[in-house]
Amino acid sequence: MTQDKQVIIIGAGIAGLKAASQLYANGIKNCLVVEARDRLGGRLQTVSGYNCSKYDLGAAWHHDILMNGLFTEELELNKKCKDSESKRFVFDDNQPIFVDEERGRLDHDPEMILEFIDKEIDKYTELEFYQSLDVKDCSFHDIILKYLFERRDTLTDDQIRYSAQICRYLELWHGIGWKDMSAKGTYFDHQGRNALVTNFDSIIERISSSFPKEWIVLNTEVKTIERKGKIVVVKLNNGEEYTCEYTVVTVPQSVLELSTKDPNDITNTKGRIEFIPPLNARIQEAFRKMHFGGLGKVIFEFDACCWTKKGSRIFTLAHSKETFVNNVREAGSWDELIKKSESVNSTDKPKDLTCWDYPLLFVDLAKSTDVPTLVMLMQRPLSNYIESIGDDKQRIFEFFQPVLDKIMSTLDTESVINEMFGATTASNKIGPKLKNIMTTNWSIDPYSRGSYSTCFPEDDALEMIIAMSSGQDSRIRFAGEHTIMDGAGAVHGSWESGKREAAYISKNLYNK
Ligand SMILES: Cc1cc2nc3c(=O)[nH]c(=O)nc-3n(C[C@H](O)[C@H](O)[C@H](O)COP(=O)(O)OP(=O)(O)OC[C@H]3O[C@@H](n4cnc5c(N)ncnc54)[C@H](O)[C@@H]3O)c2cc1C
Repeated sequence: MTQDKQVIIIGAGIAGLKAASQLYANGIKNCLVVEARDRLGGRLQTVSGYNCSKYDLGAAWHHDILMNGLFTEELELNKKCKDSESKRFVFDDNQPIFVDEERGRLDHDPEMILEFIDKEIDKYTELEFYQSLDVKDCSFHDIILKYLFERRDTLTDDQIRYSAQICRYLELWHGIGWKDMSAKGTYFDHQGRNALVTNFDSIIERISSSFPKEWIVLNTEVKTIERKGKIVVVKLNNGEEYTCEYTVVTVPQSVLELSTKDPNDITNTKGRIEFIPPLNARIQEAFRKMHFGGLGKVIFEFDACCWTKKGSRIFTLAHSKETFVNNVREAGSWDELIKKSESVNSTDKPKDLTCWDYPLLFVDLAKSTDVPTLVMLMQRPLSNYIESIGDDKQRIFEFFQPVLDKIMSTLDTESVINEMFGATTASNKIGPKLKNIMTTNWSIDPYSRGSYSTCFPEDDALEMIIAMSSGQDSRIRFAGEHTIMDGAGAVHGSWESGKREAAYISKNLYNK
């Protein structure tokens, strides 16, 4: 039997929940929110560790706090927190610490002044692409080589060797390696500071309790969306069928992309929605010019903090070779330098892959929230490999042990002692005692298929945003991080896009 709804929202991430909340506030009383997973939040997921500390496996920060509407709401709530209650966020921005395996700390080095070179590369990239709009995009890797080739006479050997590696911290913003990253899209302005959320579960709870619980149906996939005259027919995988006046599709860009493909050509069709008629030409075209990143996390929980809290952001650099400097010095052209540059194997598990093959970001929670834990951020393809190891904590520890030990020596303590699986250590041993490891699985999870939208060379994010915000048609609408310009890729962007679609639908429902 077909049931009628005013609006059906597909996906209960922050975009879908915000849309539902706003529709209810606008007086719309007959909605359904269909969610494929057994939980709310989508790419916001708070979990508990061995000592009951909470961690966010997906988003963890409010970004761009000068223009982040969600943060503004949270700021008001934070003001009302009693002193005894924990705050809803903490400001944890710090000067990053850069650690190289051989050379140790490289930040604030008075000879190399790598922070200045990093800023110069940022400016160089801006001048390269924005003085003339015709300049062809290339990878972030290649633009760095171009800078080094053209400016080598102004740089010392150490600056050439290490600035190339320092810049790669941006891989941990985009969730992909420098060879996949669009040079044009790599650098972007931050609209204010970042605030570490403690934790996102409270935000999900707050928004989802602002509309009727009966609206939400979990563990259910939307399979088909069909436009029939003035109505939209939505079919679920449990056989139920609904008609509605409007639908808001908030599934991630990576899942929506499956709708542009023949189901016979896809190994796992979970999450795929069949659109009848198919997604419009503009949307199909936009998928050719936009990609999806693969940020992942590994959480290392210790029994206590025995290291010096020097900073909340520790970047470990990928290996660099002295031969790299010679290549830069001797290259006859930029092209020649690109060809000569050592190629990092881009397969998921090169035979001899090590933790020093990629730059990594370690967030020291001991510094910001007093929790003795390091949260490590990693990019694709490394995240694909580590997430595929899944729950084999011992293997994950062995893989990252060298980099963890290096960090600990930088923070004035001894090597990590593995006390996972209930093992104990002689009481005279010093060094941080590792109790537990947790790993994300965003790349494997069929309802995320990675982390968030990002640009490969020659992509154009604007085409996707325009196509998505215009909708499939006047009644089949889209929301989510990939559908909006301000806050693209981020939680506040998703949240705003949910608000945007709720406003559009409310206006049209009341004006009919
Ligand atoms: C590791 C990681 C770190 C991040 N860090 C930050 C950060 O610090 N700050 C920040 O601002 N952003 C961060 N982000 C990005 C942020 O998490 C996302 O932009 C945001 O949560 C996306 O929300 P959304 O509602 O658009 O999509 P989602 O949260 O993905 O919601 C979409 C929902 O649709 C559901 N769904 C999929 N297919 C179907 C179907 N067929 N039927 C029904 N339901 C379906 C999914 O299960 C999901 O719940 C991070 C993301 C990741 C993965």
